[in-house]
Amino acid sequence: MRIPIDHYSGIPIYRQIETFFRKAILSGALLPATRLPASRKLAEDLGISRITIENAYAELKADGLITSRIGSGTYVLPLFPLSSRARNKSHVPWPLWQQDLVIGKKNVPGKVLSKRQKTTQQHLISLAEGSGDPRLFPVEDFRRTIQSVVRRDGINAFEYGEPSGFTRLRVSIVRVLASQGLQTQPGNILITSGSQQALALVSQLLLKPGDVILVESPTYARALDLFRTLDLKIVGIPLDHHGMQVEKLEELLQQLHPKLIYTIPNFQNPTGVSMNSWRRRRLIALADRYNVPILEDDFVGDLRYEGRAQPSLKALDPGGRVIYTSTFSKMLLPGLRIGFMVAEGPVYQELVRRKHTYDLTSSNLIQRVLESYLTVGRYQTHLRYSCRIYRKRRDTMLKAIKLHLPADISVTPPLGGFFIWLYLSENISAKNLLPLAGEEGVIFAPGNSFFPDGSGGDNCLRLNFAANPPEVIEEGVKRLGKAIKRLRQYQQIKRAD
Ligand code: PMP
Repeated sequence: MRIPIDHYSGIPIYRQIETFFRKAILSGALLPATRLPASRKLAEDLGISRITIENAYAELKADGLITSRIGSGTYVLPLFPLSSRARNKSHVPWPLWQQDLVIGKKNVPGKVLSKRQKTTQQHLISLAEGSGDPRLFPVEDFRRTIQSVVRRDGINAFEYGEPSGFTRLRVSIVRVLASQGLQTQPGNILITSGSQQALALVSQLLLKPGDVILVESPTYARALDLFRTLDLKIVGIPLDHHGMQVEKLEELLQQLHPKLIYTIPNFQNPTGVSMNSWRRRRLIALADRYNVPILEDDFVGDLRYEGRAQPSLKALDPGGRVIYTSTFSKMLLPGLRIGFMVAEGPVYQELVRRKHTYDLTSSNLIQRVLESYLTVGRYQTHLRYSCRIYRKRRDTMLKAIKLHLPADISVTPPLGGFFIWLYLSENISAKNLLPLAGEEGVIFAPGNSFFPDGSGGDNCLRLNFAANPPEVIEEGVKRLGKAIKRLRQYQQIKRAD
């Protein structure tokens, strides 16, 4: 192992080694249960005495970061029992310019539970995920497709690609969209690195700090993070069972002069609801009248389990009013990092130019692989397969909710996507519930992280029904029921006091 050691810094060498491992553990670069090098071997590698290594390890042990098992070795421990002393010693103070950046992050609400915390808790059931089940990912198909594309295209697959994306992939996407009733052309498609990049490109192009953006309230938390990072004024429009309450829109358009409306019309994140047809048409008409562009985020539009498909806003667009984005992250594989936009007119040209300026192109190899996968029709087969499985899981979760959660909890059964949104009764806070649920061995996404100002939604939470098999869903909801019961008991005791 190579550890940078400065013999002239005046900092004792054991301290330099300790700091190196401490940073690696706290940053997650060294995961729990990772074995550290044996002190004798590391001492040899670094050309220093073994006692120096042992001193460094002793400090880490004292802070509960590592442990030794006789005859077995030294291992990284899970992070959560960490003392504040261990955290504070993690690094020297940041330079001033870095401290300013940390202060700038203040208004972004933190994550519920980090991935690190999740992985360190054994048997924890996560109903907090934002995606489908990785076990369904067609990994073997992709392995074979990658091989055949490399054989077919050779070095061409490893060149930079076209700024707007691999032409044949754009042709395939046009066909997929046509099958959903959205007519467009390859010249109006821009391939992006996930739809998250599409959201960033559009909002950076069309808005400047202080501009008003209208969003559904609640909405996708990472979009809120993005809009906060751009210093936009985020104004929420409430949702009901039929999507954004478009009836409230006109007044806001008149008063606030927003520069963009961001909407997730299908199986919305986090609520799972879809916008009805009347509201879709009204939204387009109003946005047109008040000259405001619409950014339509169709992240799971193809994962429909029942009901009639609604036309996308883009399909209702008379021309150039709606910028549509979708992604292969949810329907296929998030690690592909392939999303796309559909737009027309000068905005399309400018989006292509910006995308090219930011990252030149999305991966040419992966675009070719995806194109090949789409062309042989495996995508539609995979979609049908995913829909069948996810539909069953949704039904399992709805049943488990009825069985294990109090009767005063209300849900709107989603017709597609990944999420069920729960309204707990008024006096139950999802934030207070989360630690108890964690103790019971289940986590969820609390409601307030999806609201523009971080307040509101305290008695709501989002459950993912797609990412776990039915028996795990059932057990997760059961545990949630236990946590709710315990929270109610605490509250009763407190009131009695
Ligand atoms: N939109 C919504 C509503 C999402 O939930 C997500 C991811 N969770 C994205 C966009 C971005 O996904 P990606 O960048 O992987 O396409």
